[in-house]
Amino acid sequence: MNVSEVKSIDPIIEMVKRLFFPRWDPQRKWRFAIEEIPIPASLSPDFQKIHGESLGCCEPTEKTIYINPGCDLGYLWVVLIHEICHAVGGGTHIGKWLERMKKAHKKLGEFVRDPPAGSPKELWKMIYENIELQIEGTPTELIVGIQNLFEDPPSVMPTLDHVISVFSKAFRCNKKAVFKKYPTIEKVYKEERRRFLDKLKSKYEAAKKGDLNDQEED
Ligand SMILES: [Zn+2]
Repeated sequence: MNVSEVKSIDPIIEMVKRLFFPRWDPQRKWRFAIEEIPIPASLSPDFQKIHGESLGCCEPTEKTIYINPGCDLGYLWVVLIHEICHAVGGGTHIGKWLERMKKAHKKLGEFVRDPPAGSPKELWKMIYENIELQIEGTPTELIVGIQNLFEDPPSVMPTLDHVISVFSKAFRCNKKAVFKKYPTIEKVYKEERRRFLDKLKSKYEAAKKGDLNDQEED
């Protein structure tokens, strides 16, 4: 389910602020907008496309955090933490942003062990792992790009080679340059492949169980 399909994402925003950024923006000057990501005209067409597909964007001059209407509700947590860290720590993925992300990651580790009442452990584990990849220097577009390749069509499991060629087409560069731009691409790929295979396995187990039940009914 996408963020645009629910009545309000305010409860999630409030929870993220309360759990991870309790001292940020006490006067509530920042706003959160579910809108198409604004695209800087200075970017080349390829990057405009990639930028427009970002799940979130932090605009400090307007004090606005944009959330892409296509952002999955489960992923919203990751996007909010990432973007509020920009609001606190600046526009790059180093320095203060990185420090703040590490702090949020540590907090997430606590929730993985001991989730806040009523929330599932899996949610915290998913957010924890995503933020972990990001603080290791893996950009969100790589993680989401690879996740999409595993989610969208696949009757056939995407190979690492396929993933790399998709990225090299998107950036109009050779495969070597993709590795240079995204040194963690193989790690993210393997992580998603593991998730994909786990899902397949549980689907298969469920189908097998269903078959047995059918036989019992006969
Ligand atoms: Zn960012």
